[in-house]
Amino acid sequence: MSAPCCDFCNNTTARWALRCDDVGVLASGAHATAVAALTGAWNACGDCLLFVQRADSDGLADRVARSAHGPPEVVRMTTTAFRSDVFKALYKRVLPWLGSPQPLATVGANSPQVEGEP
Ligand SMILES: [Zn+2]
Repeated sequence: MSAPCCDFCNNTTARWALRCDDVGVLASGAHATAVAALTGAWNACGDCLLFVQRADSDGLADRVARSAHGPPEVVRMTTTAFRSDVFKALYKRVLPWLGSPQPLATVGANSPQVEGEP
């Protein structure tokens, strides 16, 4: 089966899970407002994890905006700069909530689990 997707850039090589308390986030950017419900954990690939660990929300937003993560029609109708602004506002609020990374392991057919903690 396919590997878990990165919750940031949406590639299929997520290797890490970042724990997060369940919390609602409301972020306002120059052009838009983003709302996210964080539930349990975010998956991250190695490249996105580097931005998270540096608390570089702007750099992560630029990376994700260029990755065309999102519904194809939304990506088609928005510019990279627009998406970057939205992600910057969102990640500035999200990154402080994320815990330390835990390696993902695929157990069974397609059920990723977090190793190490009960
Ligand atoms: Zn990623």
